[in-house]
Amino acid sequence: SPFFKEYIPANGHEVILKAKLNANENPYGPSPKAVAAFREKADLGNRYAWKELLDLIEKIAEKEGVSRQHLIMGPGSSDLLEKVGMVFFFENGGNVVSADPSYMSLMKVAEATGAEWKPVPLKEDWSHDLDAMEKAIDANTKLVYICNPNNPTGTITDADALYDFCSRVSEKVPVFVDEAYLDFLPEKDQRSMVSLVSKGKNVIVARTFSKIHGMAGLRVGYVVGLPETLNRINKITRGGMGISLPSVYAAKASMDDLEFQNKTRKLNNDTKDYVYKSLKKLGFEYVPSYTNFMIFPIAMEGQAFLDKMYAQGVGVRSFNILGKDWCRVSMGTMDEMKMFTGALQDVAG
Ligand code: PLP
Repeated sequence: SPFFKEYIPANGHEVILKAKLNANENPYGPSPKAVAAFREKADLGNRYAWKELLDLIEKIAEKEGVSRQHLIMGPGSSDLLEKVGMVFFFENGGNVVSADPSYMSLMKVAEATGAEWKPVPLKEDWSHDLDAMEKAIDANTKLVYICNPNNPTGTITDADALYDFCSRVSEKVPVFVDEAYLDFLPEKDQRSMVSLVSKGKNVIVARTFSKIHGMAGLRVGYVVGLPETLNRINKITRGGMGISLPSVYAAKASMDDLEFQNKTRKLNNDTKDYVYKSLKKLGFEYVPSYTNFMIFPIAMEGQAFLDKMYAQGVGVRSFNILGKDWCRVSMGTMDEMKMFTGALQDVAG
């Protein structure tokens, strides 16, 4: 796509990062309660997690207000995004419609199986262009993918508009809504599309323990969808088989640790405010973010920028969006963000 080019940081050389701000991880997690549960159950690492996984599925189903037939677990949501990409497109061809730029995992798998990606640019306000996406659907469209809030932009699409879109469009073609970052919104604004599944709509919602729960390295995620759609996915995955038993216990403990989730949300907002102010002082514009990362344009070639930031021990990402180079920086601890703004001033200030 002309709109979306990704740069991979400093190849070949090992870089010791002082600030790891390139993967939208949670710098505060996992929750101490999740760590304690993981440690306590490490001795059971010789066992498969059957019953324990069922307990976790019950717990998540209850939280989501669906039955356990509406849920598949995976080692992170990546696994399920990829498997949906495979099952929907392998040998079937067709196309997938999504925003551009967006999180590419599912589309890359679809393309690898021979399907076509139909990118639809985000609107000027960085929300999904739902009208244009609906128009892009054709007889060969097998799936629509929406990431809300969106990665790499950190921006949101209006929940009412998205709800209408999913409700209407899922009558024609399944809609996959990736809600990896929804937990970073204030709780009152977290409008998940899961309620559409309860209404029988062919919507698939992905959630992950990697972000607000700080469990990216422990690998737990899930999708909610109609049982008949999940049966298709289940043909090529025994999703839960990929999750380690101690991680199942960690996920359960983390779900109960609301204090940790609230702390993450608060510290994330504090660091974002600090970065907003620092960027302003340094003369950068930025895109206000609803997630644990943000983008801002850099007046430098992306790879050169990354190399210089990495040389200072600060790992960020760079994307080419609409012909311009942008930095995507994940929110680390306040100390990491101070290193980031210091390095930014040296490199591009
Ligand atoms: N979806 C989005 C939008 C993401 O940004 C990521 C990871 O960064 C994922 C899904 C996959 O995360 P995980 O496999 O850790 O659940």
